[in-house]
Amino acid sequence: MKQSQSIQASRQVDAIVVGAGFGGLQALHHLREQGLTAHLVEAGSDLGGTWYWNKYPGARVDIESLEYSYAFSEEIQQEWSWSERYSPRKDVFDYLNFVADKLDLRGHMQFDTRIVSATFSDEDGVWTLTSEAGETFVARHVFWALGFLSQSYIPDIPGRDTFKGTLVHTSRWPDEGIDLAGKRVGCVGVGATGVQFVPEVAKVAGHLSVFQRTPNWCLPQRNEPMREDYERFVKENYAEIRKQEHEQRGAGHVLFDYEISTANTRSPLDYSEEERNAIYEHYWKKGAIHITRGFFGLILDEGANDTLRAFWEKQIRDTVKDPETAEKLIPDFPPLTRRPCGEYGYYEAYNRDNVELIDCKANPIASICPEGVRLEDGTVVELDVLAFATGFDAGAGALRQIAISGRDGLTLSEAWSEGIRTHLGMMVDGFPNMYVLGGAQSPAAHFSPPLLVVYQTKLALRLMEAADALGDGRVEVTPEAVDGWTRHVSEVMEKTMVAKSGSWWMSANVPGKPRQPVAYAGGFAAYRDWAEKSLDDGFAAYRLTAPATT
Ligand code: NAP
Repeated sequence: MKQSQSIQASRQVDAIVVGAGFGGLQALHHLREQGLTAHLVEAGSDLGGTWYWNKYPGARVDIESLEYSYAFSEEIQQEWSWSERYSPRKDVFDYLNFVADKLDLRGHMQFDTRIVSATFSDEDGVWTLTSEAGETFVARHVFWALGFLSQSYIPDIPGRDTFKGTLVHTSRWPDEGIDLAGKRVGCVGVGATGVQFVPEVAKVAGHLSVFQRTPNWCLPQRNEPMREDYERFVKENYAEIRKQEHEQRGAGHVLFDYEISTANTRSPLDYSEEERNAIYEHYWKKGAIHITRGFFGLILDEGANDTLRAFWEKQIRDTVKDPETAEKLIPDFPPLTRRPCGEYGYYEAYNRDNVELIDCKANPIASICPEGVRLEDGTVVELDVLAFATGFDAGAGALRQIAISGRDGLTLSEAWSEGIRTHLGMMVDGFPNMYVLGGAQSPAAHFSPPLLVVYQTKLALRLMEAADALGDGRVEVTPEAVDGWTRHVSEVMEKTMVAKSGSWWMSANVPGKPRQPVAYAGGFAAYRDWAEKSLDDGFAAYRLTAPATT
C-alpha cells in the first residue's frame, strides 16, 4: 500500500474503536478475535461508557441486569453474578471491568484521549483520527462507539454562569461526589435521570427543590436483592431467554419472575373494565416495563392507551398524599409515547417534608442568579447545589462533536445538513469503512444496547471481510440504501402515537434539532431482517471497491 509520510509516522492498526462502553469493548474483542489489529481510545479516564460517566446518586439500570448484559460469551454470562435485580451503576461498571479482564482487552485500550477529528484519505484508503492532544491514529476501519446518550444537554438559561454554588450536569457528577448532606439542592428535569436522582437526594438533602416542566409516567421498578434460585433459573435458561430477547420490540420484557414471558396479543378494549384493571394490577405489581406486556396496541390505538392512562393516574393519586402535588405529577401526554421512567421511591419522595415540587409550566425558570433559580413570578429559590438532569443530545450528539471528513472531503455535517441519514444507523454514504455502533436510527433506544452492538459489529465484520477479499478494499453503503432506511425509520414511527410526542425520542428536546425519530422502533427482528437482506444479491446495498493501484 502506498502511503503518505504523515500517515507512516502515526500509530497504525486495522481498526480503531472509539469509546469504551458496552459497544466499544465488545467491538475490540470481536475485531481481535478475527485476528485483526485493533486499538481502542476513550475520552474518559477509565472504561465503562455511560456507566463510567453517570455517577449521580441513584444511577442504576432499569432493565433487569440479567438481560442488560452481554450474551455472546456463555462463560461470562454464567460466571458473573449480579447482586441486585436492577444494578446500581457501580455494579455495571464492575461487570464491564470483569469483561475487559476476562477478554484481555486492557492492553489495547487508551484512556484520556478525546478524538476531535477523523479524515479519510482517498489516496491511501485509510482514516486518520486526531486527538485533542494532537496524537494521531491511522486505521483502515473506524468504529464509533460513542454511546447513544452521552452528549450532555444543559439548556441555555440566562445567568447560568453566575451561580455561586455548585452547578453540575448529572452525567458529569464528579468522582469524589458532592456533599449534599443538609444542603439546599435543586434538580432541573424529571426524566429517567431526575426520577432516579430525586429519592436518593431527598434522603440526605436539607431541602430539595424539583423543577418540573413536563411530568413523566413512572413505573415502580420493584428492585430487590438477587434471589439465588431466580439467578439459577435464568442461567439455566439463558439460551431461550436470549433468543426471545432478540425477537422483542423493546428491551427488558422477557424475564418475568421465573417465566420467560409472552405478551398478550389482545387489546385492552376486548375486556371489561374489571378484567382489564385486574390484568394491569397484576403486571404493575411485577413492576418495571412489564406493564406493556398486559395488552397489545397500547401505543397504536388511543382508546387502548386511554385505559392504561386511567389505571396509571390512579396509582399516582393513591401514592402521593398531597392531592395538589399528585395532580401536578400526572402527565398530560399519553403513556408510552415518551420513554417511561423507572422509579425507586420517586412518588413517595414527595410525601417528605423536605421535598418541594416546583411546576415550571405554570411558573417557568426565568434565569439563574448567584443565589439560585429565579422563577418568572420573581421568586428566587435559594440553593447550594444545582443539578441539571436535563438529558442529552441523543443519538448522534457525540458523533457530531467530531470533525469527520469522508470521501472527496465530504463532511458529516454536510451529509447531515437536513437531518440524520444512515443505513441501519450504522453507515453513511460517502464515509467508507466507517461504522457507528448503537447510533441514531438504530434500534438502540428501543432495544437492549448490549445485544444490538454485538450484532452490528458482526455485520461490519462481514462487510470488512468482503472488502478485504479485494485486497485492502473499501466498503461504502449506497445512497439508495441510506435513503431507503431513513424513510423506513420515519414511516415506522409515524404509525405510532410516539410521532406526536415532544421528547428526545423525536429529537425534540434540543432546540434547533430537526424533528425526526432518533431510533428505529420496528423491533430488532425487523432490523436484523433488513440488515441481512442488504447483503443479498452480492451485497447490493454496498459498494465494494479495490484500492487504487497507482
Ligand atoms: P430526559 O429524559 O431528556 O429529561 C430531561 C428533563 O430535563 C426533562 O424533564 C425536561 O423537561 C427537563 N428540561 C430540559 N430543559 C429544561 C428547561 N429549560 N427547564 C426545565 N426543565 C428542562 O433526560 P434524562 O432524564 O437524562 O434521560 C434520558 C434518557 O437516558 C432516558 O430516557 C433513558 O433512555 C436514559 N436513562 C436511563 C436510565 C436507566 O435507568 N437505565 C437512567 C437515566 C437515563 P421537558 O420534558 O419539559 O423537556
